[in-house]
Amino acid sequence: MLIVLSGPSGAGKDSVIEELRKGDGNRHFVVTATTRPPRPGETNGVDYIFLDEATFLEMRRNQELLESAQYSGRWYGVPRSQVSGALNEGRDVFLKIEVQGAETIRSIAPEAVLVFLAPASVAELARRLAQRRTEDPAELQRRLDIARQELEQVGRYDYCVVNRDGCLDQAVSEIEAIIAAEKCRVEPRRVVLD
Ligand code: 5GP
Repeated sequence: MLIVLSGPSGAGKDSVIEELRKGDGNRHFVVTATTRPPRPGETNGVDYIFLDEATFLEMRRNQELLESAQYSGRWYGVPRSQVSGALNEGRDVFLKIEVQGAETIRSIAPEAVLVFLAPASVAELARRLAQRRTEDPAELQRRLDIARQELEQVGRYDYCVVNRDGCLDQAVSEIEAIIAAEKCRVEPRRVVLD
């Protein structure tokens, strides 16, 4: 299966993924590429593949990225080989991307399972983004503006999971339940990439 976890910055996608890593071992969590500079504590090849813009655009031109999108002035993209390699090995592949990327994945792999991770409210999202102190005030405001637009796109997803403050376990178990239900489908969703 190809599972796309999307939703606004600050919704808790990273925390959810961290928990999903503890589950079934047959999972691949894609390390995506970005031109955003690393935050303190982030490691190249673990959190992201950090690239300069020229290298990123070269990969994009060479169709080495399954999808790519600009978010708050920076490029982000999914390395195609990582996804196809893991799918060919029979693993479940998880993508943690913003909503334009999810839309692209929907169009190229309609069988992907799209999960939207939502905050309980914009106020809660704003509080979380401010608390993590990874963005300066201008960037924080930009991310909140983008988040408001992203929240309007929830209708395009297969599932919406709300990640309330202090209720990460519930969000994770709902996502595990979605994965379990998808695996019980009589007609499995088979993702085929060109
Ligand atoms: P951040 O700068 O907070 O790490 O990421 C900004 C947004 O870009 C987040 O919503 C994150 O999930 C998303 N993102 C990360 N990698 C990719 C990618 O490869 N493609 C797309 N479309 N979005 C990504």
